Amino acid sequence: MSHAEMGAATPVLSVRGLVKHFPVQRGVVISRTVGQVRAVDDVSFDIARGETLALVGESGCGKSTTGRLVLRLIAPTGGSVQFKGQEIATASDEQMRSMRRHLQIIFQDPYASLNPRMTIGDILTEPMAVHGIGNPAERGERVKELLQVVGLLPEHARRYPHQFSGGQRQRIGIARALAVQPDLIVCDEPVSALDVSIQAQVVNLLQDLQKRFGLSYLFIAHDLAVVKHISDRVAVMYLGKLVELADKKALYARPLHPYTQALLSAIPRPEPGLERTRILLTGDVPSAMHPPSGCRFHTRCPHAQDRCRSEEPVLRDAGPGHRVACHFFETLPLPAGVAPVEKQDQGRFAVRLAAFEAARRPSAPA
Ligand code: SF4
Repeated sequence: MSHAEMGAATPVLSVRGLVKHFPVQRGVVISRTVGQVRAVDDVSFDIARGETLALVGESGCGKSTTGRLVLRLIAPTGGSVQFKGQEIATASDEQMRSMRRHLQIIFQDPYASLNPRMTIGDILTEPMAVHGIGNPAERGERVKELLQVVGLLPEHARRYPHQFSGGQRQRIGIARALAVQPDLIVCDEPVSALDVSIQAQVVNLLQDLQKRFGLSYLFIAHDLAVVKHISDRVAVMYLGKLVELADKKALYARPLHPYTQALLSAIPRPEPGLERTRILLTGDVPSAMHPPSGCRFHTRCPHAQDRCRSEEPVLRDAGPGHRVACHFFETLPLPAGVAPVEKQDQGRFAVRLAAFEAARRPSAPA
C-alpha cells in the first residue's frame, strides 16, 4: 500500500522536529559537560495504520536512537512524538503506562532479549500481567494462541530460551510484542543477526501479522534488500538528519540524494550485463559531536559546492510523497550504477527476494 493510497488517514504515529542530544561529560572528580552528541536533529515523519516505514542509514546515524525516542525509552531533548494524537514526550507516567501497551519493540538480538531463567510461557505472560490483561487461565490460553500465531507449538511454553534456535527466539520476541495487542511495533534491526533464509521467514511472518492485525511498523535496518521487501516508504538518515523520504518504489527507482545513491550502489550485482558503478564515499563519517557545517554530508559528497559548506539544505518536495534535503538534487545526474527498478529485481537482489518467496512455502519454522 503506498502512502498516497492511504490518503489522509490520521497517522498512528506523528513525529515532528524530534531532537536528541547526549551530553559528553569529562572529569573524574568533578564532571562537566564539554559537548553534545547530536544523535537526532530535527527529524519528522508520520506512520499510517498498517504501514511500514523503514528507517535506514549507516551505523551511528541515529536510527536506533529515533526508535527509542518514539517509545520514550529515552527522553527527547526537543520535538514532539504523537501516538494516535496523544503526546508521548510529555505524557505522565500513568498516561505512558496505558500507551505502552499499544507500542512495542522487537530487538535485534534474539539471544540477549529473552530472560534465560524464565520459561517461554512466563516470558509471554509477563507483559499481559503488567497491563492487567485477563486472568491467569485466560493468559495461559493466550500464550498457546500466540505461540501458534508465530509458528511455534503450545508445548513450547514450558521450555527455556536456550532450547530454541535464533529464528525461533526471534519468533518468541515477536509473540511477546503481540501479547498486548499493539498498534505500532518498532522493529530494531530484527533480522540482521539471523541467517538469510531465516531472515526471510521472520520478515514474511512480520508481513503476515501486519495484514492480520493491522499493525504499523517502524522498521529500522541497514540491509536495503530486506527494506525493499518489507517497507511501504523509506526514510534515509545521515548523521542525525533525514536526507530523503519517499515511497519505496520511487526511492529505489530514482534515489535523488547523493547519500541514498551511494547506499543503493553498494548492493552487489555480480551478474553480467548489469553494470553498477559503486559510488565510493571518501572520508570518514564525521563525529556527531562536531557535525560539518551546512549540509552534513558535504565532507563526503561527490557533488559538494561552496553553498553546501555554509547553508544547511531543508527537506523539499521532489514529487508526490518524495522529499529530499539537497540544494542541487534537481540538476544532479542519476548515477549509472542505479538501475531502473525493474532491473533491480534481477541478479543478487532477485536471489535475496527469491529466498523470501521460498520461505513462504510451508515448512518447519527455523
Ligand atoms: Fe551534496 Fe551539496 Fe546536496 Fe549536500 S547539499 S548532498 S553536499 S550536493
